[in-house]
Amino acid sequence: MVEDSQSRTGTVTKQDFQMLSVIGKGAYGKVLLVKKKDLQNPAGGELYAMKVLKKSEILKRNQVEHTMTERRILGTVRHPFIVKMDYAFQSESKLFFVLEYCPGGELFFYLSQIGRFKEDAARFYASNILLALEHLHSLHILYRDLKPENVLVGKDGYAKLTDFGLAKENVAGNSDAKSLCGTAEYLSPEILQRQGHGKASDWWSFGAIIYEMLCGLPPFYSKDREKLYKNIKHADPRLDFPFLSESARDLLMKLLEKDPTKRLGAGERDAQDIKEHPWFDCINWDAIQEKKIPPPYKPQLDTATDTKHFTQDFTGMKLSPQDVESLKDGSAAEGGWNGFSYVNQEVGGGGAMEMDIQQ
Ligand code: AMP
Repeated sequence: MVEDSQSRTGTVTKQDFQMLSVIGKGAYGKVLLVKKKDLQNPAGGELYAMKVLKKSEILKRNQVEHTMTERRILGTVRHPFIVKMDYAFQSESKLFFVLEYCPGGELFFYLSQIGRFKEDAARFYASNILLALEHLHSLHILYRDLKPENVLVGKDGYAKLTDFGLAKENVAGNSDAKSLCGTAEYLSPEILQRQGHGKASDWWSFGAIIYEMLCGLPPFYSKDREKLYKNIKHADPRLDFPFLSESARDLLMKLLEKDPTKRLGAGERDAQDIKEHPWFDCINWDAIQEKKIPPPYKPQLDTATDTKHFTQDFTGMKLSPQDVESLKDGSAAEGGWNGFSYVNQEVGGGGAMEMDIQQ
């Protein structure tokens, strides 16, 4: 298990936040744009994305382990291309993750608006994602759910991975994890065949996301689920598009290799082998890591709380009375999910030290 040196319960509770709008929906709850109340500066206050999960749903669908894994990973991992968590707390019926807000929304939303990216833009986002995966792998964490919806665009225009609900810790070899999870279009053949999967499966999904950025659709795409699975397992990806460069085609072929042991990135050197592929020749990895390269686009916001980069399906939603109520009452550490609550000591002022109450 990953060591979590910063785990503390909060003096922070949901009453410390003002709800502004709904910006997303996950499998077990909603994601809200919230503002942390700031008595010194009532007009200001930091914006956050608050992921609210219903405990009853998590229990009903056996997701306790996945949720605690997400909590541990978010509390431990610090990387420029991974969403940062500042607080976690709970009420009787809900769990709250308070995450760095990415106002550019999902990379997918941006991609769907412009169809497909030019190679330079795709390479920029791919380089962010690669460094995030490399870091997770160095901590023996598999991400397992790489898809455009989970890649967000921060205010600086750089990409960040979010949603660690399917991640797996303590993975050593290349066939440690056995469960069928992830999102259909991006599942690797070995996951579909339940042969056990490891870091190479993340590199397959990485190939699938680069393919989608460059071609506008995931590889092997079919509306028919059975056909999609068959294509992933047996078909060659379509790479004869005139707009693909030779090196892009070569990279995609090597990442979308069916045999995980032969896939680029499958070896001991993990991400390093991919970084050295000619498609990435023009990337200065240190400059990307230090955010010294101008991004392809920076989200333009009319106001700090502008949510135009999120789908109106959510932002158009009226806040339900339950949403509003859910932030009103209750205090931290009343629900008995031991070890859930958290304050990032860099923002929390170091004052909150007591542990969750076990019930
Ligand atoms: P999740 O359940 O974590 O997959 O989140 C569902 C959706 O909420 C994502 O696909 C995003 O559209 C949105 N979302 C999640 N986290 C954030 C964040 N930190 N900043 C902005 N939007 C987010």
